[in-house]
Amino acid sequence: MCPLCMRFSGSAIHALWECDAAKNVWAGSSKILQKGVSGMANMIQLMEYLLDRVESQEMEVVLVQAWLIWNQRNRFVHGGKFHDLGWLNNCAREFLEEYRTAQEQMRTKHVMQPNQDTWQPPPQSVFKLNFDAALFSGLNRSGFGAVIRNERGEVMAAMVAKGPEVFCSEEAELIAFIEGDNNFAMKAISALKDDQSMLGNVIWDIQHLLRNLQWLRVECTRRGGNRVAHVLAQFARNIIDDMYWMEDVPPI
Ligand SMILES: [Zn+2]
Repeated sequence: MCPLCMRFSGSAIHALWECDAAKNVWAGSSKILQKGVSGMANMIQLMEYLLDRVESQEMEVVLVQAWLIWNQRNRFVHGGKFHDLGWLNNCAREFLEEYRTAQEQMRTKHVMQPNQDTWQPPPQSVFKLNFDAALFSGLNRSGFGAVIRNERGEVMAAMVAKGPEVFCSEEAELIAFIEGDNNFAMKAISALKDDQSMLGNVIWDIQHLLRNLQWLRVECTRRGGNRVAHVLAQFARNIIDDMYWMEDVPPI
């Protein structure tokens, strides 16, 4: 039995469309939804019906509204109250607007970044890690350099390390692992899906470690923005032991 209207079953089509509580929410939205056709067998049939009649922008509002109704039902079941209907309808549009603005901002940031050819400081209270890898063909080894700086560009830590023999720069950069200048490596790390390539397990390890961070942005920068890390990686050609500096600038 439905906990809200005390009738019918608890199916999804009832909860989101047929239930009196849901109908009241839809009654306050666009005209086509106010009519509230009944007799839909399931959500798929309802979606097909709406997709034929509602424009895609309005369909987005419909989906957010459905999500809000679902949320309100849960709230009610757990002892809360169903929010005022006007609030629910406004809320759907506000959420959607907020989401679109955020998407727009993310797109702008992504487009602007690669044009910068100098190192850019991170936002306040955030540290930026730059890294680079170098292949020393003939020496059967690779080198890694990494530097962490704050928003004023002060060095918090730096590192130069020797690496094993590797066969391509992507492999070297992934082993080095947050801002690198290798586009392939950066895209692979920031992708949310599993990587099925030869280096998939290395990428998975990196993604797993990154989940522990509170805030993270992975970017690909141009060579000029990664100069310090590049020089550090090259320096690894001649070192005997790995080298670390804390709150100190490497004498390179
Ligand atoms: Zn109901």
